[in-house]
Amino acid sequence: MELLEKRIQRDGIVEDADVLKVDGFLNHQIDTALIDQLGAEFARLFGDAGATKVVTIEASGIAIAYATALHLGVPLVFAKKAKTRNVAGGVFATRVLSFTHGSSYDVVVSRRFLTPADTVLIVDDFLANGNALAGLLDIAQQAGAAVAGIGIAVEKGFQEGGARIRARGYRVESLAIVQSMDPATGAIEFAPNA
Ligand code: 5GP
Repeated sequence: MELLEKRIQRDGIVEDADVLKVDGFLNHQIDTALIDQLGAEFARLFGDAGATKVVTIEASGIAIAYATALHLGVPLVFAKKAKTRNVAGGVFATRVLSFTHGSSYDVVVSRRFLTPADTVLIVDDFLANGNALAGLLDIAQQAGAAVAGIGIAVEKGFQEGGARIRARGYRVESLAIVQSMDPATGAIEFAPNA
């Protein structure tokens, strides 16, 4: 998506070889008009996939997932970070290895909000190694919900997550796929077909 690629070129910061900072418009300060357009694009791409809910993980996926859910006219459910390992009953729980922090954390979704009657569209801001998505897919599976597909704002194509999740048969649509980035020069290159 040209709009997103241009914005990443303009305001994205290559923090190191693996981390792209987009906190000026995507996940700290939020450009609401841009996010709205990303949501509209996901709604266009997955409009006929039968999603009954959009699912993401807190916190940075919520804005894009909200915009997507609004355009699709379905509720948004976000997996919440659990404070303790011993989560009480009534929830689906899974453990996620954090890309940005290197440690693991538990996330939960109430059993009231995902059921076998649901078809979920999973949305997140970044796809790196695929651990956040693996956690959300695990929760969908526990709930018996179908998965309509996965929408990602920024996929880092040089990390393994995209191949890993697509190899499991899921439809993954990434609005921008970073092919390479150079912390020395700040240069960012995109895969041509995103
Ligand atoms: P994964 O689980 O695919 O390894 O990483 C995805 C999660 O880590 C996303 O939910 C996102 O919050 C965070 N993340 C991964 N790579 C980046 C990055 O380059 N920049 C930022 N800001 N977050 C990232």
